[in-house]
Amino acid sequence: PDPRTRAGAAVKAADRAHVFHSWSAQGLIDPLAVAGAEGSYFWDYDGNRYLDFSSQLVNTNIGHQHPKVVAAVQEQAGRLCTIAPGFAVDVRSEAARLIAERTPGDLDKIFFTNGGAEAVENAVRMARLHTGRPKVLSAYRSYHGATAAAIHLTGDPRRWPSDSGTAGVVHFWAPFLYRSPFHARTEEEECERALRHLEDTIGFEGPQTIAAVLLETVPGTAGIMVPPAGYLAGVRELCDRYGIVFVLDEVMAGFGRTGRWFAADHFGVVPDLLTFAKGVNSGYVPLGGVAISAEIAATFETRPYPGGLTYSGHPLACASAVATINAMAEEGIVENAARIGEEVLRPGLAELAARHPSVGEVRGTGVFWALELVKDRTTREPLVPYNASGADAAPMAGFAAACRRGGLWPFVNMNRTHVVPPCTITEAEAKEGLAVLDTALSAADAHTV
Ligand code: PLP
Repeated sequence: PDPRTRAGAAVKAADRAHVFHSWSAQGLIDPLAVAGAEGSYFWDYDGNRYLDFSSQLVNTNIGHQHPKVVAAVQEQAGRLCTIAPGFAVDVRSEAARLIAERTPGDLDKIFFTNGGAEAVENAVRMARLHTGRPKVLSAYRSYHGATAAAIHLTGDPRRWPSDSGTAGVVHFWAPFLYRSPFHARTEEEECERALRHLEDTIGFEGPQTIAAVLLETVPGTAGIMVPPAGYLAGVRELCDRYGIVFVLDEVMAGFGRTGRWFAADHFGVVPDLLTFAKGVNSGYVPLGGVAISAEIAATFETRPYPGGLTYSGHPLACASAVATINAMAEEGIVENAARIGEEVLRPGLAELAARHPSVGEVRGTGVFWALELVKDRTTREPLVPYNASGADAAPMAGFAAACRRGGLWPFVNMNRTHVVPPCTITEAEAKEGLAVLDTALSAADAHTV
């Protein structure tokens, strides 16, 4: 065979020999061997190129191999690769300043972690210590990470195998009109009922036992449900009334994904703690963190914060965050996400929905969209059952395979595909992706009634 194909096969064989993969039955997976990536694309050893409509795990907001970020990592590696978190370092301070200047309100102190789950763990620890209360409320249909507290807080089935000790986590229903648990008919009604449900939950749990309410500003993996106007402001008001810390998880929604620096900016809401990761440096080096309000920071002014990580504020990660944020600002990348969202994706996806009976709903903003695929638009029966696997999941697997055959790498979760390309995507690339989705949706249409 072609020497490139042989090289790809060797990479895959080496992976199968020793790499243990996330979320997978190790014997049932067939990972694609990736040879390289640039901008909105990555490619394999056989010469197949994929338009990355998943931004990997919704993290390459600035695209692959942005030259300014690559150069910043190289420059920092030559200067200072690593230093313990206790020292003051120029790139760490600069990354914290650039983040604090963009986070809403008085979230002006930054605790750095290696990723999103650790950010959630530390936000929850801060809220519990700040309030002296044990419980945390989070939503069904959410994802907050795979470490101990973060997976308990998660509201999707990935939580179940780790649910042995839910340690003070209480789940509630956040608004989602398309599959409303409140039988609401309008966004206003859904918002009002969801707020009443949350207040009831707080009341029955006992407000004096609740440290925090944790929400994704726009739930991501669970389905990109942009909350109705007034919902997050209503949650803010409930938290204020009961002395509860309001934590917004912007690990996926932050840093340009919704067409603003933070999704909270769309709603004029300021949480007490905000978690971030992914887009902060597009994952070029692992980085996450918590932005902390003045009031919570004051709790730890004279009392030590009992948490830390060897690599908190790692210089290579911070250098890549500085370069990423500066490039995003200089190149108008957040504005690009907003423009592509409104001018290309919103009308383009609506047009696909009009022609394909398998599309039950299109929702989103910026470069953050979900297509809810259904068997039947009237009953809204999902194209595959909730948490389907094996043969039951075949219609979605068929859809994904059709995307890949067309040169598009899709994001698929349960009965949904998410359109989550880099914030840097061009109009031509977005249209190329929509054309592939058009073909792949015809495969999904075959499963409709
Ligand atoms: N929070 C949200 C909203 C996420 O989407 C994710 C990951 O997808 C996480 C937390 C966990 O982040 P990480 O995988 O970096 O630990």
